[in-house]
Amino acid sequence: MIPFVDLRLQYESIQSEIDQAVKEVFTQAQFIGGEPVVKFELQFSQVLGVKHCIGTGNGTDSLFLILKALGIGPGDQVITPAFSCMPSAECITLAGATPVFADVDNDFYTIDPNQVAQKINSKTKAVIAVHLYGQAAPVSQLKTLCDRHGIYLIEDCAQAHLSKDNTGFAGTFGIAAAFSFYPTKNLGAYGDAGCVVTQQDDLAERVRRLANHGALKRNDHEMEGTNSRLDTLQAAILSAKLKHLHQWNEQRIILAQIYHTLLEGVEGITLPAVRENSVHTFHIFAIRTKKRNALKSYLSDQGIETLIHYPEGLPFTNAYRFRNFSVGDFPVTAALQNEVLSLPIYPGLASTDQALVAQNVKNYFLG
Ligand SMILES: *Cc1c(COP(=O)(O)O)cnc(C)c1O
Repeated sequence: MIPFVDLRLQYESIQSEIDQAVKEVFTQAQFIGGEPVVKFELQFSQVLGVKHCIGTGNGTDSLFLILKALGIGPGDQVITPAFSCMPSAECITLAGATPVFADVDNDFYTIDPNQVAQKINSKTKAVIAVHLYGQAAPVSQLKTLCDRHGIYLIEDCAQAHLSKDNTGFAGTFGIAAAFSFYPTKNLGAYGDAGCVVTQQDDLAERVRRLANHGALKRNDHEMEGTNSRLDTLQAAILSAKLKHLHQWNEQRIILAQIYHTLLEGVEGITLPAVRENSVHTFHIFAIRTKKRNALKSYLSDQGIETLIHYPEGLPFTNAYRFRNFSVGDFPVTAALQNEVLSLPIYPGLASTDQALVAQNVKNYFLG
């Protein structure tokens, strides 16, 4: 059996560091805030080269907190890709605004600036660029477009820890960026966790307040907020894991190259394209094929677990049924949802296992 992801392997490879970090938190017996949170926030902001990092409860909250902190709410529209996962859209509704979907492009599966341009109107306040699968969205183009219309660019970096476009790290282009440290992400905690990064002092302070009942310290409630803080324990674990992030990403990139070599030229599948001069960190390695469902069940019969990111474009989920979208509104998303298949890719994936995955994909197509 080859699983889609194996987090045990990763833990075993750094067990002593994790156990030490966890033990220190238990010994200190401070479980919310404190030095480990401050330390991780500083470390993560330094790695990205941004001024502020604010730990949060998870990536969904990070997106919501950014929107709230920017004053986006009822009557406002925010443009987000049709092909992503629920948090990229529901955060907008949570803030009281309306999600407006834009289709993705057919080569890289990230939000298409031309589609975004068509959706901008006087109610539009922001665009959310999702760096899907670890591939940088066309942030320079999006930034130019947003600046021209006086609206915010927000980055969803949940799948893009240390991904780059040709000019810098994902998360450094917009007014603010949301990260998730969900356990299976490239940098994952041992539970829910996330953060917001931004260069703006005032925005950073508003996010920090909103994440902690409107307060920076005890009895300092300048506004209402919510409870979405990064746990001390998760912060300590993330600091221990952050040291390895670059190397883990390198491993994913090498695994992706090997898949390319092994699957090159197989008739019937499209391998993931990488934007020129960018760093794709391969959170997900998704191939594309018209025979997706049959391939998935064939691989499953051979003991190979695969997943689909995502089986339904956001506008086509039941959650947005009331909006009455049709397939023709988002043709690229409509095709992708039936064609993408994510193959196992994670640090520690044995080369023999990877070769077996590739061989079975080939076997299916060669019959
Ligand atoms: C995982 C993910 C999120 C949300 O992260 P959580 O920490 O699970 O709330 C948001 N956007 C994208 C694209 C994601 O993959």
